Amino acid sequence: MRIVTSIATMQRQARQWQRTGKRIGFVPTMGYLHAGHMSLVKRARQAAGKSGGVVVSIYVNPTQFGPKEDFSKYPRDLKRDLKLCREAGVDVVFTPSDKEMYPQVGSSRRDDRTARRAVPTKFSTYVVEENLSRTMEGASRPMHFRGVTTVVAKLFNLVLPDVAVFGAKDWQQAAIIKRMAADLNFPVRIIVAPTLREPDGLAMSSRNKYLAGDLRRQATVLWQAIQIARAAIKESNAIPAAKLKAGLKKLIEDEPDAKLDYVGFFESDTLLTVSKVKRGTHLALAVFVGKTRLIDNAQM
Ligand code: AMP
Repeated sequence: MRIVTSIATMQRQARQWQRTGKRIGFVPTMGYLHAGHMSLVKRARQAAGKSGGVVVSIYVNPTQFGPKEDFSKYPRDLKRDLKLCREAGVDVVFTPSDKEMYPQVGSSRRDDRTARRAVPTKFSTYVVEENLSRTMEGASRPMHFRGVTTVVAKLFNLVLPDVAVFGAKDWQQAAIIKRMAADLNFPVRIIVAPTLREPDGLAMSSRNKYLAGDLRRQATVLWQAIQIARAAIKESNAIPAAKLKAGLKKLIEDEPDAKLDYVGFFESDTLLTVSKVKRGTHLALAVFVGKTRLIDNAQM
């Protein structure tokens, strides 16, 4: 397995694969890998074929974190990540530095994270999806998706993937990436792979590491909310979204340390908000459990 930190080397490797007709499968991550990530790697290998190239990027992208979010505290363990990738048969782990990804004059990372400020940065071009990114995560985390689409567009230009695999866990993100790839004509097929869960239903996430003691138990309330909404829809054909939302908010906030950020009901493909919830409607929610913000989603 090759570990690549330089952009020039990554591009050279990708172009060499392209020249020799190898399919390239790509899984972008922020590291601290878990079984959910590794299921995407498996899917990428399937898509790229035995003789194809599989690339995993590990990069905690500063431009997708808000100034009050957990960028500096985000869990990192490169050594362990590399071991998992090696065992999974990954060909290249691409793990660039911030300096490589967002060149700037001077060295303070804070400057390039808030490009709105007039700082002497050498980086000033962003990719912005202007429709699907307005609701839910986009409404709660301003600039988040701008950071995501920008870094994924950069990574696509560096890795030159034929196929890129994203998790259904971040449903809105996957929809936005699909739209970006279509709108900007990236020659890449986007695959969305299912959410992997812990035995008690909690969606696997690098941020689950923050959940100490009873917070870990309380975190299962997101999965409970999904199950309860599903059961309600099974019993009656259509339920007003407002009514379901109120019930779920109460369920969540009955946990001592849980606070609902948002819960939304929408069409799976278009992300359009619906006022009546039926079978097939998509539910997404974000909940603070202690200081940790968790998200989950599922089709009803
Ligand atoms: P992250 O490292 O959190 O940025 O996630 C990298 C990729 O893994 C994204 O496409 C996520 O949607 C996906 N992912 C994260 N958690 C899971 C999970 N529990 N099951 C499946 N995919 C996941």
